[in-house]
Parts: sequence; C-alpha cells; structure tokens
Amino acid sequence: MPDDIRQTLIARAMAARARAYAPYSNYRVGAALLADSGTIYDGVNVENAVYPVGLCAERTALVKAVSEGERRFEAIAVATHNGGSPCGLCRQFLAEFGTALQVISVGADGRRITWKLGELLPHAFTGSDIPGGSRA
Ligand SMILES: [Zn+2]
Repeated sequence: MPDDIRQTLIARAMAARARAYAPYSNYRVGAALLADSGTIYDGVNVENAVYPVGLCAERTALVKAVSEGERRFEAIAVATHNGGSPCGLCRQFLAEFGTALQVISVGADGRRITWKLGELLPHAFTGSDIPGGSRA
C-alpha cells in the first residue's frame, strides 16, 4: 500500500475515534477500512447500556462497507489511546473476507503496529470449513 494511502487511513481512524460512543468504558475506538475499490469506510465503537449489545469500531466499519456492496478489503486502521489490537470477535468478523487483510493498530501517540489478519487469527474458521459453504 502506498505510504500516502496508509497515512490517510490512519488519519481517518484517528479522526473517527473522536466520534466514538463509549460512555461506559470511555475506551474510544476509531477504525478506517480500505476496500479494494479505494473507498474508505469509517467506524466507531457504539456502546449500549446493555453492555453485550455494543458494537466495536472494526465491525461498524465492515458492516457499513458490506452494506454498500464491498466484499474485498486491503487494510484496516484501528485507533485507540494505547494502540490496542482488534478483539477476537472482530478478528473473526473480518476473517470472513480474507485473512490477508492488513491490520494497523495505532495509539494516540502515533505509534503503530501492523499485522496480517492471519497472524492475529491463525487457523481461522471460515466458510470453507462448512460443508457446502462458501465465502466472499
Ligand atoms: Zn472488536
């Protein structure tokens, strides 16, 4: 990925973080997902008074993208105050669309770590594990 696109993706995730709805944990997360089409989809975590109902920023971004017809993705940047990596639910959710996805975690200080999704979720369960199943 060209460096200017990587910088844009990171900046979008950090900007999205300001829009997080996290009144309970105050752990604000912003995500920016780059589709193969070149479109970037932002997401934020959206918490709920019934805690398990809340949605992570990564899944928010992916739901927005898939809803718009996207199926192939190159990278996702995730911004938190401490550079945390995506949770297990999000790793699985993202893996539906391929484990070659580049995952960039960035902290408020700008420090970043990059992985392939397959490194964060080795031996992922996918549609090919379901007899007669298929994947995107
Ligand atoms: Zn998550």
